[in-house]
Amino acid sequence: MAEVGGNPREAANAGRVGMTRGRHVPTRSCMVCGIRAPKRELDRIVASADGCVWIDPAGKMPGRGTYICKNPSCDRSTLRRGRLEYTLRTEISDDNWAQLIASIVALGTTS
Ligand SMILES: [Zn+2]
Repeated sequence: MAEVGGNPREAANAGRVGMTRGRHVPTRSCMVCGIRAPKRELDRIVASADGCVWIDPAGKMPGRGTYICKNPSCDRSTLRRGRLEYTLRTEISDDNWAQLIASIVALGTTS
């Protein structure tokens, strides 16, 4: 039980300075399975200003967004419409939802 200076994570990070340039990597959690990952390893879902909800793989569209991971074991088809509506604070039309879930599942299987 070596209690050297308190936080063992800080000690580990200190040992890695110079390898990683010490940059903070922002992480987001997956809407479906809840796993946390760096933003660029997730696909973004965004509610645009006109009220439509789309997948935004580049992560650059303006609007309120949430994320889903690219893990093959994460079943994107189980994404719940009501939960997404709540998170994005918008209502998703039937057509919009059908297109969205299709593109989400397609993206998840091709990459
Ligand atoms: Zn996931």
